[in-house]
Amino acid sequence: MKNTLSKDQRPYLGYFPHSKVDLGLQLPVMEAFYTIQGEGAFTGSPAYFIRLGGCPVGCVWCDVKESWDVDKHPLQSIDALVQQALDSGAFIVVITGGEPAAFELGPLTGALKEAGLRTHIETSGAYPLSGEWDWVCLSPKKFKAPLHENFGQVNELKVIVYNKSDFAWGEQFAREMPSTTRLLFQAEWSKRDQMSPLMVDYVKQHPQWGISIQTHKYLGIP
Ligand code: SF4
Repeated sequence: MKNTLSKDQRPYLGYFPHSKVDLGLQLPVMEAFYTIQGEGAFTGSPAYFIRLGGCPVGCVWCDVKESWDVDKHPLQSIDALVQQALDSGAFIVVITGGEPAAFELGPLTGALKEAGLRTHIETSGAYPLSGEWDWVCLSPKKFKAPLHENFGQVNELKVIVYNKSDFAWGEQFAREMPSTTRLLFQAEWSKRDQMSPLMVDYVKQHPQWGISIQTHKYLGIP
């Protein structure tokens, strides 16, 4: 199998001294754990999270900055990741990061689906999506724009509200999403006290939107 993407599309292409990461047969994993999905459309559902290491997007308010340096996260084989997910007993596997779409995810998602598990991704959309997905949550970031080519696959648009202007910013993406896309605003955690009342008002006036709350942070779970 030959990877034909450029380094703009796969920022770590050729970075590792062998081809298994480029081919998606091994991936850098920051952590993997079974928990309850705390935010977004599947809030409250048990899910096995695989957090990949490596993110070149660079959001100033990122709450997982320790994921950014790809060298800090050991490579794991797809087989091991799928087995761990199966052993957890979860039905849903969420691939997050870091920026998971920076990597080739075809082999991982193919193996998860073959094992009977649902595949969900949380991505900024800044890199071309690979893999087979049951649920794509796109959370656009100002620091690296999402790619239009990903928009047709989006099931959930989750816009982080850091400033009042982020409502209009989110609307520009909403217009380009499939009509079935679940539209959600979510306050950036450190701004939740200021932004939550604005979100409530906005969503009441624009009922095509909903609110996502980071319930896992209230529950004290990952
Ligand atoms: Fe952090 Fe996600 Fe932004 Fe990357 S895309 S910097 S992981 S918030």
